[in-house]
Amino acid sequence: MMHNLQIGGNLLIKKVVVSRKIHDELIKLVSKYSPKIICGLLSGKKESDVVIIERFYPIPTICGPKIHFKPNWAAYQDVKNVIHDAKTDIVGEFHTHPDGMEELNINDRKILRKLGRGLWIIVTPQKVVPWYFEAIDKFKYICEKPDLELTK
Ligand SMILES: [Zn+2]
Repeated sequence: MMHNLQIGGNLLIKKVVVSRKIHDELIKLVSKYSPKIICGLLSGKKESDVVIIERFYPIPTICGPKIHFKPNWAAYQDVKNVIHDAKTDIVGEFHTHPDGMEELNINDRKILRKLGRGLWIIVTPQKVVPWYFEAIDKFKYICEKPDLELTK
């Protein structure tokens, strides 16, 4: 039997499935906006501990060395509504790291601590890197890199 670490009734995400097409389009976004960061929402399905990404929605992004990045909140809400109207689910968020850093940086972790939980995808000029984050309490959190599976 597969062992699943379960916290608060939610399974940790162990695998992220994405098509080669979406993967390549995400990578292209990095250079399109570089050196600026672009963020957005991911829609798709969650089946137990696997997330299948079906679409991504870029959102106008404000960025700078101090804030790292933040979405335009009005546009963020619009995209949420579009995903809701399409009767699909938000499964995560993404943002680019044009500098190539694959890890979540200190600002990313700060935001995720506030959110409590999330699947965040970091897109570098070379790589799509999924991260699953879950805050346990004030001091502890889980931060894992789920496997990435590319489909046709
Ligand atoms: Zn970041």
